[in-house]
Amino acid sequence: MVVANYRPTKAIIHTQAIQENVANERKRLPKETELFAVVKANGYGHGAVETAKAALRGGATGFCVAALDEGIELREAGLTEPILVLSIVEPMYSELALSYDLAVTVGTQEGLEEISKVMAHSEVEGLLKIHLKADTGMGRIGFLSSEEMNEAIQTMERSKKLLWEGLFTHFSTADQSDDTYWQHQLERFTEILQGLPKKPRYIHTSNSATALWHDAGIGNMVRYGVAMYGLNPSGNVLEAPYPLKPALELVSSLIQVKKLPKGEGIGYGETYITPEAEWIGTVPIGYADGWLRKMQGFHLLVQGEPCEIVGRVCMDQLMIRLPKEYSIGTKVTLIGANNGKSITMQEVADHLETIHYEVACTLSARVPRNYEK
Ligand SMILES: *Cc1c(COP(=O)(O)O)cnc(C)c1O
Repeated sequence: MVVANYRPTKAIIHTQAIQENVANERKRLPKETELFAVVKANGYGHGAVETAKAALRGGATGFCVAALDEGIELREAGLTEPILVLSIVEPMYSELALSYDLAVTVGTQEGLEEISKVMAHSEVEGLLKIHLKADTGMGRIGFLSSEEMNEAIQTMERSKKLLWEGLFTHFSTADQSDDTYWQHQLERFTEILQGLPKKPRYIHTSNSATALWHDAGIGNMVRYGVAMYGLNPSGNVLEAPYPLKPALELVSSLIQVKKLPKGEGIGYGETYITPEAEWIGTVPIGYADGWLRKMQGFHLLVQGEPCEIVGRVCMDQLMIRLPKEYSIGTKVTLIGANNGKSITMQEVADHLETIHYEVACTLSARVPRNYEK
């Protein structure tokens, strides 16, 4: 998809906010604990490379991504810090991972043996770094016991091309006020840890929520994701220990303004009919930009005034009801502050009955990301 640069619709990314969120977390962590910035999915829609650079300025020491390609993107941008791919990489790409010095996650003995086989014939220099994932109750990927892991450790030791670099798990309820299940997962991880003959360089259990509300769990590295973008992982159910600064603003402008008489249909299916003479503004953003049809009935800000989205959201445009005439080119804010009023990504998520993670990731590639300090 091309980036629509010649359109007023833009995501403005405040890299200073990312830097400060990282620095604020950094301050709370023990000195020796490393902070890996999670920049998967194009930095949760904020742009992976720029986010990664801002995180570095804030004190990040490495990165996590979800796909091999995302790690390669960072390397090709010149980033040299450690990078971990959190999802399973198919064994046939192991050499590619090593050639870019990307650490990979392993969750099964079969997977590890495949990797070991592929790497036995590899002429790429160096060792492929492996992080073993323990499934302590997420039910997604990972080994279930220390017995299984001990076998994996032996496989890595026998191989001349593999290095056991990390051990980790992922909590599924760290953003909830009831920590019973979190404790249960922690116990399982501790048991696994105690059943192993040695420890790798990195042990990590913490996502943003664990960092904010559980003292980063146990280990010596934190996988800091959504909070870096200034978004509260609990959706504001729990209060963050430091103010999270939202990094993304979504803006556009009015491209047409007209006064319609009473009884005019707006948008596909004429789901809105003007109840009286009204000023209607058209904004060049639609569901192809990730501003979903379900946003009908929500509002945007025009000079601090909330203006309802009326009629169906189209693929590329939407219409809003204006309290009065505004000139063409007037700025419109979809996410962020406008004349003292603001719309948060959380409010958008609430309207969509989802989480802000999804809102951020849904913003499509057509929307340019403009970086500001
Ligand atoms: C995405 C992800 C994270 C980051 O989670 P946040 O809630 O965004 O902090 C950490 N660990 C793993 C395994 C992940 O997949």
